[in-house]
Amino acid sequence: MNSVVNPSYTGRLAPSPTGYLHLGHARTFWIARQRALAAGGRLLLRNDDLDASRVRPDFVEAMLADLRWLGLAWEDPVITQSQRLPAYRAALARLHAAGLIFPCHHSRRELAEASVSAPHEGGEHDEPLYPPSFRPAPDAPLPSLDAAGLATNWRFRVPDGETLAFNDARCGLQSAVAGKDFGDFLVWRKDGVPSYQLACAVDDAELGITEVVRGADLIKSTFRQLLVIRALGHVVPAYYHCPLMLDDRGERLAKRHDSLSLRTLRERGTTPSEILRQFADESVCL
Ligand code: GLU
Repeated sequence: MNSVVNPSYTGRLAPSPTGYLHLGHARTFWIARQRALAAGGRLLLRNDDLDASRVRPDFVEAMLADLRWLGLAWEDPVITQSQRLPAYRAALARLHAAGLIFPCHHSRRELAEASVSAPHEGGEHDEPLYPPSFRPAPDAPLPSLDAAGLATNWRFRVPDGETLAFNDARCGLQSAVAGKDFGDFLVWRKDGVPSYQLACAVDDAELGITEVVRGADLIKSTFRQLLVIRALGHVVPAYYHCPLMLDDRGERLAKRHDSLSLRTLRERGTTPSEILRQFADESVCL
């Protein structure tokens, strides 16, 4: 890690309050903090609270408290996605005006049945390849984004065959082919909220994030977000995808691993410095 002072660096922590944070989240956020400190930059905290079926107010409090307990710090105010709906609606309207999205009335089950790819191979924000036969014709008129339009699922029409690439600061050159490695992805949900892909792309761009530090399970999402950021005419940030922490069976840590949640570790007497020392030791090989 270099220590060049770069006052224009802005990073972010983006936890989701859908459970208690575990050691894997903590390590990713610690790396984000280290990179912001090393760059002499700013670090924001974004509360990714759009998944109303899973978000709980006590998880919001817990994630902030647990990160503070660990010694992480960020700039005030915390950015809360559920308070930014007008920004996401405006972005959706721009994608709509550019003819880059289309309404999708197929159920999740129909999509899963028609798709040949394995769902979720790229983490919880991945989705199966959208069947091209479900796409409306490119010149089909788009319904407007009135109340009914905003109560509809909308998808981004990916540029089939185009190779998207970015140079990851840890993993090196990453590339994927649109329409093959990932398909038309959800940008708006019929319950009136943006998908993670749209909200994240809009926030990273509008909040002036210069480097996105997050888990490697999101590499595939990055290609989708690059398309959205480009379509909206914003500057693309740099990316650093951290290795995922595995449990002793070699499986990725998830919020169900209660024994490795920061809460549980704290209750059992583990100290922040013990955790941070472990991260610092591991970071030699990150
Ligand atoms: N809150 C998102 C998540 O759980 C992370 C988003 C990001 O860092 O882009 O996975």
